[in-house]
Amino acid sequence: MARFPIERNYISHGNSRPGIKVPKRRFIVSHDTGNPGSTAIGNRNFFQTNQPKSSAHTFIDDKRIIEIIPLDEVAYHVRYSVPKDNEIYGYNANSAAIGVELCYGGNINFWNAYTRFTWYHAYLCQLYGLNPKKDITSHKLLDPKRKIDPLQVLKRQGISFQQFLADVYRMYVSLR
Ligand SMILES: [Zn+2]
Repeated sequence: MARFPIERNYISHGNSRPGIKVPKRRFIVSHDTGNPGSTAIGNRNFFQTNQPKSSAHTFIDDKRIIEIIPLDEVAYHVRYSVPKDNEIYGYNANSAAIGVELCYGGNINFWNAYTRFTWYHAYLCQLYGLNPKKDITSHKLLDPKRKIDPLQVLKRQGISFQQFLADVYRMYVSLR
């Protein structure tokens, strides 16, 4: 199984990266950027420059995996007010979940990005002892009134979220 390089190119402290340590890494929330054609480094530079009070830890395109916020720090990738994360995992996502963003569209080769995206989820499950069948969820599931990611982008390629989880599991087993 190929291992992909992970770049750690952290943004400065600010609204996007408050620098608060998380008590626990309990689960993963899968996202897409909602911005077709924007690359991993393009997103990194956007958050560095604009520092919006929303963010995610990692951006993945067809060529690069870039962690822009350390995985042991808070990133604001799910609204605090939604109840589902607490119901399922006992934590607010921002306090206990790693937010992973899939870059897509434009010149980004979907399948190369998807392979890195699934591999990275499997890698995180290995790294933190997470269960790949239970400890990965979607932004849509946590915030169904406002969010569709990453299900719509996957669905356009004929991939259900269940299929995505199965692909992650296959990679997870191959990493052991
Ligand atoms: Zn999202």
